[in-house]
Amino acid sequence: MKLGQAVLDLVFPPKCPFCGRILDSSRDLLCPDCQKELSWLEGTAAERKVEFADGCFSPLAYRGKARDGVRRYKFGRCVSCARPFGVLMAQCVRDHLKEEADGVTWAPLSRKRRRKRGFDQAELLARELGANLSLPVVSLLEKSRHTQPQSSLSDPSQRRANARGAYRLRPKGQVEGRRWLLVDDVVTSGSTLGECAYLLKQAGAEKVWCVTLAQAGNGKEETEEQRKI
Ligand SMILES: [Zn+2]
Repeated sequence: MKLGQAVLDLVFPPKCPFCGRILDSSRDLLCPDCQKELSWLEGTAAERKVEFADGCFSPLAYRGKARDGVRRYKFGRCVSCARPFGVLMAQCVRDHLKEEADGVTWAPLSRKRRRKRGFDQAELLARELGANLSLPVVSLLEKSRHTQPQSSLSDPSQRRANARGAYRLRPKGQVEGRRWLLVDDVVTSGSTLGECAYLLKQAGAEKVWCVTLAQAGNGKEETEEQRKI
């Protein structure tokens, strides 16, 4: 370990992104307990169908410690959590995606929500994923209108209607003919990612694969969770 890193570890000891426990080494991604107890998804369980996308991959099920980790990240503003989460997402892509992607983008927050939170959780994950896979990270989408939090809507058809028309392509994005990884923190009904994948496909994207840290089984797990506005 370099001296600089050793000093940093003393001043800012690395913590497990899921439970906040201090880690033995900055080389560890997470603590041994979380490694054992996290709701890892394997095989086809890590894959989910998202409309207009060519696949959707997530290393974790959105419950227990995985849910705690997402909350620490978003609501506890644990910006440094993005690094280990990005590594887990990159491993998941390597395990499940047999093709090569050309770039990474994300489903963005509205400007208002981003200002309030101080960061866009999907963007940071996209940047870490891109760094891990040595792929360019490009801002292709923006929120075009304010929507209700998806959490306030339990019915999938309501979620779809709420997400429809909520995004648009940013000007000058070179989408056409390229294969994209589209990032979000959690996939629930897939409405948000489906809407974004639709726009990318309309603009000529060759492939769109969604990648999220966690996958919720249905809308119910996160009814008390504040989703994107
Ligand atoms: Zn832990």
